[in-house]
Amino acid sequence: MVAAPLLISPVRDVRVGAIGAFVPTVDAVILVGDLIVALLLFAQASVFRSRALSALASGYLCAALLRIPHALTFPGAFAADGLLGAGINSTASISLALRMALPLAIILYVWLRKKDSESPPETEPHARIAAWVFSATALAACITLLATIGHDLLPTFFADRSALIYSNTVWYQGVTFGISLVAALMLFRARQSLLDLWLLVAMAGWLCQSVMIVTLHERFTIGFYCLFGLLLISHLIVTFALLAESIRLYSRLATATAARNRERDARMMSMEAVTAAISHEVGQPLTGIILNAKSGLDLLERRRPEVAKAVESLRATIDAGHQAVAIMKSIRGVFAKDPAAATVFCLNDLVRETACSLNPELAGQRVSLEMDLDATLAPIEADRIQIQRVIFNLLTNAIESLAATSGRERRIEIRSAPLGHRLVLLEMSDTGVGIASSEMPQIFETFFTTKDTGTGLGLSLCRTIVEEHGGRLWASPREEHGATFHMELRSAA
Ligand code: ADP
Repeated sequence: MVAAPLLISPVRDVRVGAIGAFVPTVDAVILVGDLIVALLLFAQASVFRSRALSALASGYLCAALLRIPHALTFPGAFAADGLLGAGINSTASISLALRMALPLAIILYVWLRKKDSESPPETEPHARIAAWVFSATALAACITLLATIGHDLLPTFFADRSALIYSNTVWYQGVTFGISLVAALMLFRARQSLLDLWLLVAMAGWLCQSVMIVTLHERFTIGFYCLFGLLLISHLIVTFALLAESIRLYSRLATATAARNRERDARMMSMEAVTAAISHEVGQPLTGIILNAKSGLDLLERRRPEVAKAVESLRATIDAGHQAVAIMKSIRGVFAKDPAAATVFCLNDLVRETACSLNPELAGQRVSLEMDLDATLAPIEADRIQIQRVIFNLLTNAIESLAATSGRERRIEIRSAPLGHRLVLLEMSDTGVGIASSEMPQIFETFFTTKDTGTGLGLSLCRTIVEEHGGRLWASPREEHGATFHMELRSAA
């Protein structure tokens, strides 16, 4: 852009003939571009409650509106002497106003930005923007009236439709060059945004145009057409920069909204998980309570009440009640992320105890259980009830997987072993249906289940519990059939 005046200097005065549609076309393109810029700037001004952006947007609006009389009054575009009662100098006068509008708007923008930071505007943004729009439109209308009806009052730039009065042009272009230079320097010193940078680029274009204009002697030469080309570029640069910036902001907003929605869904999921976990874990002891209480009642209601057996049933009811309370506390511990009620205990003992409680199920499904528990295993420090839930869940899953097999041995193997520095490993293998490799990454996900009556919560809860204890839980396929679950926990200090 800066080199343009130099590059065209050898040929700038070569006449190429009048192209009637050229100036109106350039004006129409700049009009659309400047209106887009004004619209985007007004939108930003309303969001950021900025007087500075409103002033700049008004400058663009006024310049966009002046493009209409500029095109209509241009000699030879729509009529030989231009429309709207134009005189020889009408277009040049509007052009001079156009060249001053944006630099003056930029000076106002820089000055008001300082004011905005000192005292934010108090009036309602929409009312203020309406006032700016009205002022810009009124100013454009006044300039149009002055340049058309009052053209005799204005300075003369042209001797006829194409020949310039050089001395006047140099004088007035000198003034616009000075204003543009002041605007560019003020903006350069106060620059702080991407918009400022692109406005500076546009200002550089305007300064080059001022230099080019003083070297021109008449219309419809190569220099004249290049001048309009440069004008187009300096306007469209800001339009495209603002559009690109708006698209970038919009896509960032869309990404942020999607992330917020995902976060809300995840929160909803965890609420669902809490509810489902409660029904999953507490359902069993509650069923026990109902069955035991019912059988106690039956025993007492007989003609000859069997008090001893009824007492036994009621005791079992109380035990199931305690179990439900303990489970509730344990679930709360998992979801509320409370520090676990840790005690030091032997993992092997807990495995034996849990397996024993599942004896009826093991026998019912004809499952053999083999335990290879390392006697030298260091004790662990953990929430005993939570770790018991994990072992219980893993064993129940293994039994369910074995129940779905036929024609081969139904076996569960549990091994424990010390693992490196202060770690213990518990492995549980079964000869059940196994896990398809495509499902392996999903089995620990909340609500993933392949069972008709499954909740898909067991393994996700187990992993949460183990990880809350600083351990790891993962699965792998067993060599021949079935699956192996591995649990790594830290031993007590
Ligand atoms: P649920 O038991 O309610 O389905 P889980 O989270 O406990 O929920 O298990 C998720 C899924 O992981 C099960 O539906 C099953 O497909 C698979 N799975 C878990 N344990 C085993 C196992 N021992 N053998 C084969 N598949 C298993």
